[in-house]
Amino acid sequence: MKVLVINCGSSSLKYQVIDMENENVLAKGLVERIGIPGSVLKHEATGKEKVTIEDEMQDHKIALEHVIKAILDPAHGAIKDISEITAVGHRVVHGGEKFSASVKIDEDVKKAVEECIELAPLHNPPNLIGINACEEILPGVPMVGVFDTAFHQTMPKSSYLYGLPYEYYEKYKMRKYGFHGTSHKYVSQRTAELLGKNPEDINIITCHLGNGASVTAIEKGKSVDTSMGLTPLQGLIMGTRCGDIDPAIVTFLMEKENLSISQINDVMNKKSGVLGISGVSSDFRDIEQAAADNNERAKVALETYYKTVKKYIGSYMAEMGSLDAIIFTAGLGENSSEARAEICKDMQALGIEVDSERNNVRGKEQIISSDASKIKVLVIPTNEELMIARETLEVLNK
Ligand code: AMP
Repeated sequence: MKVLVINCGSSSLKYQVIDMENENVLAKGLVERIGIPGSVLKHEATGKEKVTIEDEMQDHKIALEHVIKAILDPAHGAIKDISEITAVGHRVVHGGEKFSASVKIDEDVKKAVEECIELAPLHNPPNLIGINACEEILPGVPMVGVFDTAFHQTMPKSSYLYGLPYEYYEKYKMRKYGFHGTSHKYVSQRTAELLGKNPEDINIITCHLGNGASVTAIEKGKSVDTSMGLTPLQGLIMGTRCGDIDPAIVTFLMEKENLSISQINDVMNKKSGVLGISGVSSDFRDIEQAAADNNERAKVALETYYKTVKKYIGSYMAEMGSLDAIIFTAGLGENSSEARAEICKDMQALGIEVDSERNNVRGKEQIISSDASKIKVLVIPTNEELMIARETLEVLNK
């Protein structure tokens, strides 16, 4: 059983071919600049040389044709015949309230994904384009949609309602949905495995700290609260996103700076976060470097970031009442020992203590808490592609 995992962005297409007999990645790659001059496909089959293919790719269908050609290529490919692909798993960002689990894609599912476009105007359209392109190029191959929001559909109403007139929830489904669900689910399952427990027997907090970032409270294997909201703008301060702010700031700034709706959206999504505070970069490596060089704004950007993550951990501990483990994952969470140490600093009274030697780890599964720490702290590299492939098989085997 080989599963092709597809993750389409507006001008990009990421893919992996995974052999589900042993969960080995046979090939992976990324197409960038789809529909923009300078399209490029970077492809790598395991154990073979990396290849870069530069060719104009006007749309996702053409990009996918290139991907299939690369996967089948006798020198650089991973399979001999396209019939070896038994299923395709698609990452879909927003499933609204309609999808609380992964589903086999049919016309009704496509329609439902389309209806969620107003909740994720930047993400769902390219996801649908990817689904349609696969249908054309791989006719008859079953496809499964795996939603970023699905894992959080177990949140109780008290976690997902906003303090707004209830009619807006009824009219527009205005509520918290949460994102990165595939990642939070993967690391939570892996945590249970590593600790030798059933997911139903532990409470954990997962910190997905990448360019986008979110924290989730997982009680007995189920998401009960998460920091992202109706959109991925809410919650933590991120690379370029502002996260939680006083909502009155929006109208204040629009008036003072004479900003349109799209301009204020741009400020909050692309010019804020640690980039906005530091003025240095949205990349934590640059900010850590600038802070080490005594750049005051870089230092305060990091301090503000660490404090927001700490506050979410504290509030989710209070919400769940007891906690077994805290997990760090994604770019910053997996790689920055400084971020993990600072976030967990001075939390001994809450039963959290990071061991500095164990914390000296990058991109590898490891328990980083001290033996005295009542709550385990772990680094677990996320693997959304594998989770999508697993869910794809699970849905098809049902
Ligand atoms: P992701 O969205 O999961 O790919 O994460 C990307 C983010 O991870 C970037 O903003 C980087 O700042 C951060 N990152 C990656 N590697 C490191 C590292 N070695 N140290 C600090 N931050 C890192």
